[in-house]
Parts: sequence; C-alpha cells; structure tokens
Amino acid sequence: MKVIFAKHIGFCSGVKRAITIAEKSLEEDPKPIQFLGPLVHNEKIIEKLKKQGGKFISNLKEISSGTLILRAHGEILDSTKIGKKVLIRDTTCPLVERVQRTANFLFKQGYRVIIIGDKNHPETKGIKECVKNRAIIIENGFQAKNLPKLKKIGVVSQTTQNLNKVNQILTILKNKVKEFKWVNTICPEVIFRQKELSEILKKADGTLVIGSHSSANTRRLVEIAKKSKKPAWWINSLEELKKINFKGISSLGVISGTSMPDREIQKIRKYLKKVKRNSSSSSPSLP
Ligand code: SF4
Repeated sequence: MKVIFAKHIGFCSGVKRAITIAEKSLEEDPKPIQFLGPLVHNEKIIEKLKKQGGKFISNLKEISSGTLILRAHGEILDSTKIGKKVLIRDTTCPLVERVQRTANFLFKQGYRVIIIGDKNHPETKGIKECVKNRAIIIENGFQAKNLPKLKKIGVVSQTTQNLNKVNQILTILKNKVKEFKWVNTICPEVIFRQKELSEILKKADGTLVIGSHSSANTRRLVEIAKKSKKPAWWINSLEELKKINFKGISSLGVISGTSMPDREIQKIRKYLKKVKRNSSSSSPSLP
C-alpha cells in the first residue's frame, strides 16, 4: 500500500504557542496552575498537562489563588469574578483574537454581526461575547436561507470552518441584504490543510484523518474526505489505527488536525511504513 503523507501535519502555530505558554507556566508560575476548560482539543495533551501538575476546572468560582490559564480558543474572561491575587495567562491564538477584533469592529460600525460557525464551540461563543452576545450564529445553508430580513450585515467565521461551505453560505446571505461585508477569518493553516487534502484525494483511494473527535478542524477534514465517497477513517491514536483493515486500498492519504502531537504522528508513520513494506511483499492488509 502506498502512503501519501500531507505536508501540513501535526500542530499548527497556535496550538504550539498555547502549549509552550502552559508548560512554562507549570514550571514557573504560582501554584496551583488552573486551566479553564481544555487548553486545546486533544485528550493526550490534556493528560500530559495533568501529569505535569495542571488542574482543569470548569467554573471560575473554583479559583482563589495561583494561576489561571485561558485556552487557545479565546475565552472572554469576566475579571470581576476572580480574585486579584490570581495570575492570568492567556493562550488565545492570535488568529482567534483577530476574529474577535474584526467582529467587534463591524459591530461598532453598525453592522449586525453574523458568525458562520458551530454554535456550541468555545471559539464561536467567545466571538459572540465580543459583540455583547448580539451576533447571529449560522451553522448551515438552511439557517442562512431562513435568516430574517436585515439591512446591514458584517460576516466573520470561526477560524476552522470549511472554505467551500462558507462560500455557499455567503452566496445565500449576499442575496438577502442591502449592505454586506465579509471578512475572511478562516485560519490559513486550516485552509492549507483542506486544500492539500483535496489534492491528496485525487491520488489516494482512501484517507486516514488523525485527530481528536472533539477537534473542529479535524471534523472538517473528515467531512471533506467523506464527501469524496472514498473510504475515510478518523483515528485519534495508534491503537485505533491498529484495528483498521485497509484491504483493497492501494494508496492511502494521511492528514491530521492541528492539535495532533507530532510524537503520535511519528508512531503512526512508523506503523504505516511497516504496513507498506508488508503489503508490497504480500497482501495489502495490516500485519
Ligand atoms: S488552527 Fe489556526 S486559528 Fe486555530 S489555533 Fe491553530 S493557528 Fe490558531
């Protein structure tokens, strides 16, 4: 079996940055080190941070001292809810901050802000909070069609949205309003991966997408892979990979979401090399 690895694989710059800030804080900052929600969407990273002494909380009331780490997805913090003694480390990705700033700018300019995104995702919720919760979240074309009549809309999107899907929604929205402004806030790293996957799909007859099931950008990659009607597998670890039988697949494309650790990808790479060797000497199924 031929294996085609994507060039854009492993951590993106935003995830790398968040982990670096968190690990430095775990070493140097006042204890306890408390994370408000998962730092990034990857269970293995969260486990590692816990082993390093990190405490994961869901409510600000649980904090009275030490350090509070805000996740990469852009948490909007009400600082009146925490004590002055608490040190805050914000790991929000600069590209997520850009969406928040853009939404706020459009809001101040009198646009009704529309966010194309998943309504339950922390990033989308954070963007909405930046405009006093007055934005409308649109998840699909159906919701775009049913949007009430508005005069002036300013559209941004969650950084991990699918570019094609966003373009389809924009076409619907444009025809509904007099004044329309769109600022492309999809993360370039996410677009690279989506485009690269589309190229890989032209050559591969099956795809392996690596990433957590809670990761939005990984989900987009899986959606693209499945749309091709070719077999697609979504795994989060080597253990999951070992259960797959690739019988009948002669070339496999491999790509990952942006919060997949490089060491996990290395393990998967090594294993697939073995599969490749075995399949070229005998059958295409796994050893
Ligand atoms: S995917 Fe893009 S926006 Fe999200 S954390 Fe990574 S670099 Fe930042």
